[in-house]
Amino acid sequence: MGLVTLEYVLRKARLGKYAVGGFNFFTLENLQGIAEGAARQNSPVIAMASTGAMKLFGEKTTAAIARTVAEEYGVQMVLHLDHCTDMEILKRCVDNGFTSVMIDASSKEYQENVDITAEAVDYASRYGCSVEAELGHVGGKEDDISVDERTAMFTKPEEALKFVKDTGIDALAVAVGTVHGFYKSEPKLDFPRISAIHELIPEMPLVLHGGTGVPEPDFIESIRRGVCKINIGTELKSIGVYETSRLAYLEDNGQDPRKVSKKVVKACADIVAHKLEVFGSVGKA
Ligand SMILES: [Zn+2]
Repeated sequence: MGLVTLEYVLRKARLGKYAVGGFNFFTLENLQGIAEGAARQNSPVIAMASTGAMKLFGEKTTAAIARTVAEEYGVQMVLHLDHCTDMEILKRCVDNGFTSVMIDASSKEYQENVDITAEAVDYASRYGCSVEAELGHVGGKEDDISVDERTAMFTKPEEALKFVKDTGIDALAVAVGTVHGFYKSEPKLDFPRISAIHELIPEMPLVLHGGTGVPEPDFIESIRRGVCKINIGTELKSIGVYETSRLAYLEDNGQDPRKVSKKVVKACADIVAHKLEVFGSVGKA
């Protein structure tokens, strides 16, 4: 086992009608937790590093750590660059052995998104690295916009068909009602839109961003309608790493940081293992 491509795990997920969890990591313990959760469930898993994490660790260190952790835990892991808007960082990740990258030009006009995405595909694919791109725009808590404005940014099925043909991507992130960060009110997913997109591009794995706080039945319904990758970031960051560390440091009186590390690994592993079960990927590695 070790690092595998996104294309590989998502092709199997699409045929098997389950989703593979994509989990963000910011620390070593966070990454170990992702690997431990996947090992416990004998499930494939996607470890996602942001460009912010690149600035913290560097591409070379991130790739070396992820490869080693995947081997240490004996898991089938994709090392994925999440939401990259900087082509230079993306290329360095490909050069250093990332097996998947997401180019995010979703805030641009259609043709510019196509051109930037196609450049990423051209670079990554010659090294066998997979590419995810976004069409429509999945916002976050930084966007203070109305429901109508949000709906206007949803992925349009006809445009998705054209985008996939124009770019040659391996996975498509769709804007269908989820947002990044914690939800202020219950998320409302546009299920008919997911189905409409899937019917036009049935072989394209669809990606759901902003998974933290989405009710479990909504995950299952999304998967039934063609979603093959679900991203979870905020829950791991805020609860798995931050809150667990804070409480563990208070309990320990600053005597042994290893105790804190162990608790973070376990908290992240518990979150990941549970999500993998919901996504239906247990035993699929
Ligand atoms: Zn995202």
